[in-house]
Amino acid sequence: MTDLKVDVKNLVKNFGDNHVLKGINFEVANNEVVVLIGPSGSGKSTLLRCLNRLEDPTSGKIVIDGKDISDSKTNIDQARENIGMVFQHFNLFNNLTVEQNIALAPTELGKASKEEAADQAKKLLETVGLVDKYDAMPRSLSGGQKQRVAIARALAMKPDIMLFDEPTSALDPEMVGDVLAVMKKLAKEGMTMVVVTHEMGFAKEVADRVVFMADGKVVEEGKPTDVFEHPQNDRTKAFLEKVI
Ligand code: ADP
Ligand code: MG
Repeated sequence: MTDLKVDVKNLVKNFGDNHVLKGINFEVANNEVVVLIGPSGSGKSTLLRCLNRLEDPTSGKIVIDGKDISDSKTNIDQARENIGMVFQHFNLFNNLTVEQNIALAPTELGKASKEEAADQAKKLLETVGLVDKYDAMPRSLSGGQKQRVAIARALAMKPDIMLFDEPTSALDPEMVGDVLAVMKKLAKEGMTMVVVTHEMGFAKEVADRVVFMADGKVVEEGKPTDVFEHPQNDRTKAFLEKVI
């Protein structure tokens, strides 16, 4: 047994002639929080999307929880159930209530009865500080509230790992803190997390490791203090000068 949750070896992803991931090696340990940073277009979203096979890798190997998800014999739906994903644009089902959004996957996939799923939705809404929105429709929520519901919905499948792709980038500034607080709580509870974000404060405070990507490659990685205070690579330095 290995303590690695995610083990990516030599991951290559091309979109036609566009070589987006150029041989990525990327590991995430159990209970580790990794913050992935890098310029727009460097391939961060594509890497996350390959991790739960929203994109098919061109080549390379992706092992999650000991399962080779790049192997066509692996049941990808089953593997995906253990990987929660939160996007920049929440993607809630607008015709369902908050509770229904959260309870949908566990009931549809036979993981919980309707009552169990409803109970669990309430608990998850407590976790994200929105229990009073149980019966609300998504359109009545602010962006920050929607994103917290999206996190609760992802947690409803009891994932072993959570992937966040710029979860606060579409939010008004005053909403960002509430969403980051929920993510911080999850991290404290030991959730394994990969977070793409421009929130360097969050990275400094919560990340065990920061990975800097540029041009489809991992350029530099290390403890937040090392990467932020003593970047080694010129591209890391240039990027940090712009964002910090
Ligand atoms: P980042 O998240 O770091 O901004 P992305 O992974 O979104 O970077 O994009 C990296 C590159 O991959 C960009 O050049 C983008 O145009 C390209 N790309 C991403 N998704 C697709 C797709 N589905 N089809 C074609 N090109 C894509
Ligand atoms: Mg992106």
